[in-house]
Amino acid sequence: MTVAGELRLGLIGFPLEHSFSPRLHQAALTSLGLRGDYRLYALPPLPEGEAQMRDLLSTMRRGELDGLNVTIPHKASLIPYLDDLSPSARAIGAVNTLLVRDGALLGENTDAAGFLADVQRLWGERMTNERPALVLGAGGAARAVVYALLLKGWQVVVLARRNSQAHDLCRELDPLGAAGESTRVGGALAAPAHLHLGTSAPDEARRWGEWLEALNPALVVNATPVGMFPRVDASPWPPQAPFPQGARVYDLVYNPPQTRLLREAEAAGLPAAHGLGMLVEQAARAFHLWTGLRPPVQALWEAVS
Ligand code: NAP
Repeated sequence: MTVAGELRLGLIGFPLEHSFSPRLHQAALTSLGLRGDYRLYALPPLPEGEAQMRDLLSTMRRGELDGLNVTIPHKASLIPYLDDLSPSARAIGAVNTLLVRDGALLGENTDAAGFLADVQRLWGERMTNERPALVLGAGGAARAVVYALLLKGWQVVVLARRNSQAHDLCRELDPLGAAGESTRVGGALAAPAHLHLGTSAPDEARRWGEWLEALNPALVVNATPVGMFPRVDASPWPPQAPFPQGARVYDLVYNPPQTRLLREAEAAGLPAAHGLGMLVEQAARAFHLWTGLRPPVQALWEAVS
């Protein structure tokens, strides 16, 4: 595919000051020798930002914008304003990429594929889905991660501080057929079924230890923002719980690159990785959807390392 003229790309979210996306997409443009820019559209949460959102989407439908990324807090809330969703965006219930296809505004989610690509890059053949994955959090990113893991045949256990949110996630992903009867959800588990951050009952260490030993996860994924800048001293891992031996730990947080969770997991002897690779991979996929061209992943890495 040839890309003629200037590409007009951008990001919808709020706030956006700390976003790495402009660097990633600028690197993609430069490395492919394309002209264009990647602008930030700071849209307050709906309903406040609704008029601005509608304007921006109309601009895109008219062909005056070639591609948009979507981040917090709009990943789910702008879905009703779109014309269609890809199967993965529909299943996940969140979009991070918008494109125009045949005049229609389509929402896509590249987080799930980005997560899988990075886990594969990091641990590839050494990972087994014969033991479950434990996902912390049940928001938009957790939905993408759970969807990705289910498609790859994992059994997934979701722990969230709100049991109802974990239940909703599992109920809504289940009709895909990817989640079978055996998929367990936080609410279906014996206590501790919630993330109790910063609190611990006197017997909690024993309970967590027994529970984790029985679960024996091969992978632990943090899909909460806990540990992210500026609250870098926080960890989503329950303070009294031992790290499950033999597990790998993936933290979607990438700022800072070494979160407290990763530091402590590594100190306990576990392979651990931050979410910068997922960010790079989801960006590369979005760029490919907009242009038909695959940017060199190495150039994107260099832009954010
Ligand atoms: P979200 O939709 O707001 O969901 C966040 C989840 O974390 C919710 O379940 C939330 O529970 C839970 N949570 C928040 N604060 C918590 C706390 N103090 N203790 C326990 N649970 C807490 O956000 P998201 O879009 O899923 O993003 C989550 C994280 O993933 C963010 O740090 C984001 O930057 C990162 N992310 C990284 C990538 C990547 O490419 N590496 C991609 C997407 C997202 P409540 O609803 O109860 O607050």
